Amino acid sequence: MAPSRLPSPLYVPSASGGLALLRKYAGPVPRYTSYPTADHFIDNLAALRPASLVTQDNRPGAGPLSLYVHLPFCRSYCWFCDCAHIITTDQGAAEGYLDDLAREIALTGRLMDAARTVTQLHLGGALPTFLSAAQLRRLGRILHAAFKFDADAEIAVEIDPRYLEVGQVDALCEIGARRASIGIQDTDPAVQMAIQRVQPPAMNERAVTLLRNAGFTSINIDLVHGLPKQTVSTFARTLDDVLGLGPDRLSVFGHTPVSESESPGRVSDEQGLLPGLDERMRMQVLARERLLAAGYVNLGMDHYARPRDELAIAARSGGLQRNFQGYGTRAGASVYGFGISAISSSPDGYRQNHTSLSAYRDALARGELPVARGWRLTEEDRRRRTLIMKLMCEHRLDFEALSRELGVDVKGTYAKELDSLTEFEADDILHRTDRGIEITDTGLPFLRVVAARFDAYLK
Ligand code: SF4
Repeated sequence: MAPSRLPSPLYVPSASGGLALLRKYAGPVPRYTSYPTADHFIDNLAALRPASLVTQDNRPGAGPLSLYVHLPFCRSYCWFCDCAHIITTDQGAAEGYLDDLAREIALTGRLMDAARTVTQLHLGGALPTFLSAAQLRRLGRILHAAFKFDADAEIAVEIDPRYLEVGQVDALCEIGARRASIGIQDTDPAVQMAIQRVQPPAMNERAVTLLRNAGFTSINIDLVHGLPKQTVSTFARTLDDVLGLGPDRLSVFGHTPVSESESPGRVSDEQGLLPGLDERMRMQVLARERLLAAGYVNLGMDHYARPRDELAIAARSGGLQRNFQGYGTRAGASVYGFGISAISSSPDGYRQNHTSLSAYRDALARGELPVARGWRLTEEDRRRRTLIMKLMCEHRLDFEALSRELGVDVKGTYAKELDSLTEFEADDILHRTDRGIEITDTGLPFLRVVAARFDAYLK
């Protein structure tokens, strides 16, 4: 499975179609992994009542559980990153953190209905493979002792090819992991130097081979456009390289530059190394054209999958769900996040843990859920969340079915929002009839722009 290292011809996407629409609809719009989005969460815990958000979730007929575990340790800092992370080379730090996770899981478990089955587990970070094989096995024991896993539970792990040993892959398999998401970002050496993350192609090939040989059935690759020193041509080579690895899914995220004062150390534009907005849009169009030409389907925005991948099948059958890890296939599950910064979601709202390890530990030492902020959904929030998630996951709104589900006349109640979609119709982003609206293939990259019209909090 050697990836192609042949240089791509200089690629110049057409200025029509996707590029023109990207230019027209450029601007900051949430990715809607929640509604309301996390920047609206409140830190008034007396109003939030985090423990009752858990107990209220034990309603009869409640759906299954989707677990997320945030493993925050990294050995070095990559300059594009905005994940909650702790830089250290002391592997012993993970032992204390596993104690914390066991405490948090036990505290939460006392409030939860233990009969609910886990259909999904995502080990994320930062860097899950900061943990040694023995530490990963201990994490698996903690989780499997606390929860009842479905035989078909989808267990996924984020992988950094720079830190992956055979023993760790074996331990992940023992936990039940069969899905991996590999962070590659860009394969160009100059770009890698600029983001302080040197990861030669041979490392990526080795990681994919190790995972495939161990029985991992689905491999996702994360790319990032908008990094320093990236050009359309270098990004074309990156796409060739990763397509050579044969991933089942790809995500092509955009880097959001920040100022040095906002986030010291993160990639900023102060050295003038970042590609301009137009160049970034060309990279987006290029990625879409290359991936569609290679046989992948667009699941929405910048997520792609092979047509026979579970995500693509779920997208066709209405089984896609959206949460803080992106798109998943287990619709209807409540998300329980553990570890610093982790976000949980249930039909009544969201709760996010402390991002600082000391505040997280202090709360656990007091015997409290380590929640720092969150949101309790109002009836109106719930309705708008449903509309937004239907657009993001099913790419359509069926007015009659939604009116029955939400208990309001959708066409009348949201007439202003629906009227505002006229320009999208004119741009072939969606089709509208008396019965509903449907996003077109052209409109898939613009899902969040359409969804934003139903966001009552967006200024
Ligand atoms: S990209 Fe991953 S490994 Fe790099 S700093 Fe961020 S979380 Fe750590």
